Amino acid sequence: MKHFIMFGPPGAGKGTQAKLMVDKYNLRHVSTGDLLRAEIKKGSELGNQAKALIEAGSLVPDEVVVAMIKNEIETNPHVAGFIFDGFPRTTQQASVLDEMLAKMGKQVDSVISIIVDDNLVKERIKHRAMLEDRKDDMQDDVIANRIRTYHQKTEPLIDYYKKLNKYHEINGSGTIEEIFDQVCTLIETL
Ligand code: ADP
Repeated sequence: MKHFIMFGPPGAGKGTQAKLMVDKYNLRHVSTGDLLRAEIKKGSELGNQAKALIEAGSLVPDEVVVAMIKNEIETNPHVAGFIFDGFPRTTQQASVLDEMLAKMGKQVDSVISIIVDDNLVKERIKHRAMLEDRKDDMQDDVIANRIRTYHQKTEPLIDYYKKLNKYHEINGSGTIEEIFDQVCTLIETL
């Protein structure tokens, strides 16, 4: 069983690439953002708590997303593997994920990092705002907070996974197909 992490700033195209990987490699896509938005839609207590944080462009607490991931792993024991998208986003989340997988005799196999600069991130998020109804994509100050949060809390994971020899970068500035070609080449050489 393989465990991939799609890594990169908000709006880098992690979800788009993950969906293409699902079709080609028969993996299960787990997006913490999608799971949280589903909770908000349901009006669950968890969703209500997460809503304000998401709409401010801040992270929801580690325990919340870790519990969601644990549930996904435990309830899908027969899949060929997982693609985590938008998780882990803090070093705490990364170390809990490592512990969780180690207890099951599994591990993170590789981290696929989509490299996109801040200006392109802003452009992509603005474009998505016209296609999807996401409040966190609509306001400049919220987008700026998400990018800042990425640099402060998520980027340190690059070193975390480099030390484990699991970190791989691809250029995220091309078309969806060009980026997917790079993803496939990488996966097939791993
Ligand atoms: P994007 O990649 O465009 O930022 P996501 O759908 O991955 O979008 O995430 C949307 C929001 O959901 C984040 O800004 C954050 O508030 C929350 N979120 C998603 N994943 C996590 C996570 N692993 N830890 C904490 N908060 C998260």
